[in-house]
Amino acid sequence: MSGQAKDHVDFAYELDLVIKPDSTVPLLGREFNYYVGSGVPFFSIGGGYFRHALQQILVGFHARRGYFIAETPIIASSELFKLSGHMEFYRSNMFVFDIEDKEYVIKPMNCPFHLLIFLSHIARYRGKVRLPFKVFEVGRVHRYEPSGSLYGLLRVRGFTQDDAHIIAPESEALNVVFNVFEEMVQLLEGVFNLKVSSENIYVRLSVSDRSLIGREFMGTIEEWEAAERALEEAVKAIEGRYGVSRVTGVGEAAFYGPKIDVMMVVKGEATVKEWQMGTMQFDFNLPRRFRIYDVVREVYGETGVFVIHRALLGSIERFLGGYLELSKGRLPVHLAPLQIAIIAIKTGEEPVDKDIEFKAVELKDKLVERGFRVGVKETTRTSIGGDVRHIESTVKPPILVFIGEKEVKEGVLSLSVYTKGGRVRRQVQARTVAEAVKEIEGVVLEEEKRVYEISGVNPRMPADLSHVL
Ligand code: ZN
Repeated sequence: MSGQAKDHVDFAYELDLVIKPDSTVPLLGREFNYYVGSGVPFFSIGGGYFRHALQQILVGFHARRGYFIAETPIIASSELFKLSGHMEFYRSNMFVFDIEDKEYVIKPMNCPFHLLIFLSHIARYRGKVRLPFKVFEVGRVHRYEPSGSLYGLLRVRGFTQDDAHIIAPESEALNVVFNVFEEMVQLLEGVFNLKVSSENIYVRLSVSDRSLIGREFMGTIEEWEAAERALEEAVKAIEGRYGVSRVTGVGEAAFYGPKIDVMMVVKGEATVKEWQMGTMQFDFNLPRRFRIYDVVREVYGETGVFVIHRALLGSIERFLGGYLELSKGRLPVHLAPLQIAIIAIKTGEEPVDKDIEFKAVELKDKLVERGFRVGVKETTRTSIGGDVRHIESTVKPPILVFIGEKEVKEGVLSLSVYTKGGRVRRQVQARTVAEAVKEIEGVVLEEEKRVYEISGVNPRMPADLSHVL
């Protein structure tokens, strides 16, 4: 193979994460995107497993860190987004439609719903509601982007945020910002094996131009000063702890508040790409419109309170796109669509081949029973090299299990485990299928150890995926 390097769309297709929009639907004569539409990533079966596994991890992760878990509607009355101001300032990016003479929108953001949830809890439970109040959602949003700008998973019209909103007293703001950064580090390292260091991460701090507060930047000078002080101190603590650098953009804040974006730098052979990940944004607009300040003052007697938007990965689709390019299509075992491929190596002699086939199929069935996604591929001694190369350049299962004459006769298990950037081969005694299952499960649990520590979850969604091999 020569020519252009693979990009994230190629990897996503090979892993069966997505259906290629410009491929043709058999017999129907049209391409998939003719039916699906532009800019809405169409996830396939592998993508379904990936998304559900990641969602389970994210929910467990946030629930353990004091976030309440929400799941809010995709469609809302436009009244909600009039209240938030989006209908006035963001309408050209929204999908708006009428049903029975009422106007609806497909939500472009989750924030208005999360603030309504807070107000509902205040109404029901008054002062028993503790601050900081943190709501998390794996929230699917849709925003209009011109069709010319759409690209793969990176520029899309429908995407999913690991989104949370935090309502915190001013005195907690520094802690909140620092904790959010720490959470992002835990997630990147624990779930994606991405080491956070000064070499690959920097922080972009976007602050106001003080002279324009009250005109281009809404809110009071006191609010901006307090929020920017908290951000500045948090960034200093982050620099001290992780050695990451920062750039400050004066006047680059959003009109509604200052923010931090976390950027990852990906160095290729000839290219340097920047990849935006998490974000934390203060907002002085929504709390006014939703009367959060008034209600907090009334219920808690508290005056200084902040509303903060934050996402650790940002958009799951965009993050996945960047991650596939960085890892060259290697997903960790907890997220990989096909986790285990069993390679049955036939010899051409009966009854040896019957034994090999039986062992391979029995092992596959037992592993599926234990919750794994497994496939069996039959091959021969002469074609095994080509078959493994093909598997490694397409579906890339983190674990390969080889079953041949030797394995059956001697009761051993030959494994190849993709871990931390390369394959490690090992052979262990496993006289029975039950022993082999135990051994393989041990390998998966070892790979997933950090995920379990931080989220309390080992996602299990079993499937026989032999047909993708
Ligand atoms: Zn938000």
